[in-house]
Amino acid sequence: MANVECRFCHKLIPEHEIEAHYAHHLEDRGDGQHREYATLRPDQRDKDDLTGVPQVYMHLKCRVGTGMPEEIIRTYLVNPWFYNSDRTFCCGCSTHVPLAECIWTEMGENVQEYMNKLRAAYNRAAKLRGGIAAPQVAEEPSLLSRPKFWLWVIAAVFVGCILLTLNIKPGRRR
Ligand SMILES: [Zn+2]
Ligand SMILES: [Zn+2]
Repeated sequence: MANVECRFCHKLIPEHEIEAHYAHHLEDRGDGQHREYATLRPDQRDKDDLTGVPQVYMHLKCRVGTGMPEEIIRTYLVNPWFYNSDRTFCCGCSTHVPLAECIWTEMGENVQEYMNKLRAAYNRAAKLRGGIAAPQVAEEPSLLSRPKFWLWVIAAVFVGCILLTLNIKPGRRR
């Protein structure tokens, strides 16, 4: 019978037991967090110095900061597609919240945008390596849900109004 490497504890588990085994890791440990989170095997994780790598995020809705566990950081630095739920635990809300609602306290960058950049860089590197299929690019958030898009719309309307005003004035002088 085939064994499967557990994504949480990295032990070899008989294939027919893996679902129950995963369910155990995913149990609520009492505070809303899972017992364990999936990671790459220790020898596959990033081993570089984490200086300059953001490690604490703040959930914008509750303004509470949460530390990103190092083994998770070292996993998504190697493969930013490893976690694709795009949610993370918030100590303030005691639940998993969208990355898009969090910013890194170190640099103020939105955590979802940060992750998107890591993924884009990963895909570019995968293409350069050639032959290795890059994972599917995650669905971009809809244009209409982006605050920047609306800023541009407002700016465009504003500029449009100014232009209109300028156009009307000479007409009235006639
Ligand atoms: Zn396990
Ligand atoms: Zn929160």
